[in-house]
Amino acid sequence: MRVLLTNDDGVFADGLRALAEALKAVAEVVVVAPDRERSGTGHAITMHHPLRVQEIPSVVEDVSGWAVDGTPSDCVKLAVHALLKELPDILVSGINRGPNLGTDVLASGTVSAAVEGMLAGIPSVAVSVADYRCEDFTATADFTVDLLGRIAGRGLPPGTILNVNVPSLPRQHLAGVVLTRLGRREYTNIFDCRVDPRGRVYYWLAGELVDLENGCDTDAGAVARNLISVTPLHLDLTNYEMLREMESWRLDLPGGEAKRFSGPDGEVHDGIDPGRKSPDGNG
Ligand code: MN
Repeated sequence: MRVLLTNDDGVFADGLRALAEALKAVAEVVVVAPDRERSGTGHAITMHHPLRVQEIPSVVEDVSGWAVDGTPSDCVKLAVHALLKELPDILVSGINRGPNLGTDVLASGTVSAAVEGMLAGIPSVAVSVADYRCEDFTATADFTVDLLGRIAGRGLPPGTILNVNVPSLPRQHLAGVVLTRLGRREYTNIFDCRVDPRGRVYYWLAGELVDLENGCDTDAGAVARNLISVTPLHLDLTNYEMLREMESWRLDLPGGEAKRFSGPDGEVHDGIDPGRKSPDGNG
């Protein structure tokens, strides 16, 4: 099994190193990760300056890799299209220090790196320990090794990643593993307003976390109950209910030029023909 290991905490982060140590016994591991912490950068990609890479002969003993001065998504793109000779069998992003639960997944570099792997056709998993103070990644690393073994046997459906969050507890205090859906989280008192030494006001993102949904079927609820949470995620953000409801809006071109067309379901709808090419030919 060939594993591409990345993260958003940087190539020298403890969580990545712990996972590399655990994985190297069962897999051929290569690391391509940011050269510094890039947490919270979501799916950002670097377009307007070059990407520099530095070979790291020993991320941990017997595991080499590259440090990239880009985002987690840059790292995966670069690994797949430039650095690696063959596609890996599996991509793991982590172990991230801190939770990636509910709405966190939208800003998470850890999750976005897994999404980038999935877009490249690689079964991909994001793994986080749900505590920023975590020192011991052993239980999470062991669980991840086991999970990857299961994925190696059966793959993941196209367009799907797994998002794993592990309570920061020793193995004997973990209550079990549950499959979950994303919960909803919100941050209150979100900005600290301060004054700099020159008298100018600045703002610092801070805030206290409120879990709006933390039932035991949600990822945040599971972690709060000392359970490892595993959430299958896919990228289709379409709201299908709203899609059907909005047909009654009868959206139209100014002057009412929209033609009736047959939708993919074969029914005739009002609106703009999605198959029609725009004048510049870009569809
Ligand atoms: Mn991080």
